[in-house]
Amino acid sequence: MPYGFIYDLTKFSQSAFNILLQTACEIGVTKLFSINAKRLVKFFNLDQLTGLNLAEAVTLVEDLIEVQNANSLQRKRFEKAENRALLVPHCARSHMDRQCMADFNPEIPSYNCNSCQEDCLVNKVGKLGKEKGYDVYVIPGGSCAEKILRDKKYNGVVGIACGHELKMALDLLKKLDIPGQGVILTRNGCANTNFNMESLKRLL
Ligand code: SF4
Repeated sequence: MPYGFIYDLTKFSQSAFNILLQTACEIGVTKLFSINAKRLVKFFNLDQLTGLNLAEAVTLVEDLIEVQNANSLQRKRFEKAENRALLVPHCARSHMDRQCMADFNPEIPSYNCNSCQEDCLVNKVGKLGKEKGYDVYVIPGGSCAEKILRDKKYNGVVGIACGHELKMALDLLKKLDIPGQGVILTRNGCANTNFNMESLKRLL
């Protein structure tokens, strides 16, 4: 878990979250990340709503701005990609113990979800991704991404992770010359993480 703090943005309504993403995207163009991140935190009362201190909330929003900005810069190239992967964090599984019936294949490396729980986020996103023509990987960490992207020669990728990991992934995408789109986790942690399905649908 790259951040030293836990955040939870799931208390935001869908419309408030959309405005937050849109504003972050517009701010990204200005490059004045830190000044505007502080304003955004205040405007959305993010520190109070999430229980984060101001510095943590600003870090979170700065990363959100950077990811949104990268998404818009890479969008056109990404849309032309025909061979796409969707990388889902394993911590979004509804169970992290034996109750999860997924098989782990260390060769890929990825969990293969066996759809044991209808309302499990990983189950839902797996079905959605496959419907949209993606190869879906449920990965135990960001370090697995490079092997997957290289082995299958993908030319487009959507990743779901916390803002910090998505930022680190930008260097990898640059190195591999692959356009990507990032969906930031709305709740981070080692288990029970969450992301916004509507935000994902818009990017796929
Ligand atoms: S639906 Fe898939 S990921 Fe979720 S608990 Fe079951 S096997 Fe694991």
